[in-house]
Amino acid sequence: MQPFQFSQATTVDTAIKAQTAGQGRFLAGGTNLIDMMKLDVERPSSLIDINDLKLSAITPTPDGGLLLGALSRNSDVAHHPTVQRDYPVLSQAILSGASPQLRNMASTAGNLLQRTRCVYFRDTAFPCNKREHGSGCSAIDGFNRSLAILGTSKDCIATNPSDQNVALTALEATIHIQGSSGKRDVPIHNFYVLPGSAPHIETVLQPGDLITGVTLPPPRVGVRSVYLKLRDREAYEFALASAAVQLGTEGNRITFARVALGGVGTRPWRSVEAERALEGRTVDLATFRHAAAEAVRDAHPQSENAFKVDLAQRCIVRALTLATNSA
Ligand SMILES: Cc1cc2nc3c(=O)[nH]c(=O)nc-3n(C[C@H](O)[C@H](O)[C@H](O)COP(=O)(O)OP(=O)(O)OC[C@H]3O[C@@H](n4cnc5c(N)ncnc54)[C@H](O)[C@@H]3O)c2cc1C
Ligand code: SF4
Repeated sequence: MQPFQFSQATTVDTAIKAQTAGQGRFLAGGTNLIDMMKLDVERPSSLIDINDLKLSAITPTPDGGLLLGALSRNSDVAHHPTVQRDYPVLSQAILSGASPQLRNMASTAGNLLQRTRCVYFRDTAFPCNKREHGSGCSAIDGFNRSLAILGTSKDCIATNPSDQNVALTALEATIHIQGSSGKRDVPIHNFYVLPGSAPHIETVLQPGDLITGVTLPPPRVGVRSVYLKLRDREAYEFALASAAVQLGTEGNRITFARVALGGVGTRPWRSVEAERALEGRTVDLATFRHAAAEAVRDAHPQSENAFKVDLAQRCIVRALTLATNSA
């Protein structure tokens, strides 16, 4: 057996080389990866500490957007004045998650890649296709109250647990990646892959790929955004259903809509169906209810989570109501 390796990368290139060389993992805040290692769910041959890389800055982009360095801490992003003013949905989403101590450690990239909270994934005593491809899914006939109703497959129904990622999806963020074959930019809606028959593959990242940052597009004038998270208790809990919405109106007409859902999808769930049902329509409860119904039209609930079909709709309607001040 190879001895476990630990290294500290001082440049992006050395980090990429070190990770491409074996079954290593980048270590950012460690709040998810170290948990996974303690549970014996992740068994990397090496850890490459990337905290010395110069990727913590939050900087304006020339076109009026905002670049979040991969290592920018969740607390710094949530409390950044530009984020609070121009992207409140992101600040609200981050602050709704975890605890202040965890947010001080957690990084933008680490949050993008946090693993599911499905109890069977985290317990090696049970079969789990995501942890061990082809072993089976314990959740489909088991405890699945907190799991997904959208984007599921017969091999996995696990939710993406992040709040940040739902807001980034509604904001149409772009993820910057650097790997052994160069740099590329991936829109967040193309970054996560559906579980299908290979739930162990969660993103388009390849071995050696390092996330260097995330860009938010310039804020749209007059558009309001809101994040609403519904959960079993008010603090320290993951979403049963959440909604991130961006809404622009002219008079009583909706001119622009972006809707993303958390807690119900196998990836941060953008609902173009809901967006289509909103744009061009009048601001009223009937419009919101119709959009919410469209968002869950293809829902596939399991034995214990059918309540999420209704909960997700209520969450969308309430978030839209808050975004239009029409409560
Ligand atoms: C008790 C508890 C409660 C929580 N509650 C919530 C909650 O309510 N909502 C929520 O959204 N989250 C919650 N979280 C999750 C938390 O947000 C994540 O643990 C955190 O965001 C992970 O970030 P990190 O920097 O610590 O990642 P790490 O643990 O360091 O890394 C996570 C993964 O990302 C990879 N990685 C890190 N950086 C890069 C990079 N630059 N390029 C490529 N790969 C990279 C690592 O290799 C690893 O696979 C909770 C966590 C805990 C422990
Ligand atoms: S839902 Fe996915 S993560 Fe959970 S046991 Fe099934 S395969 Fe594993």
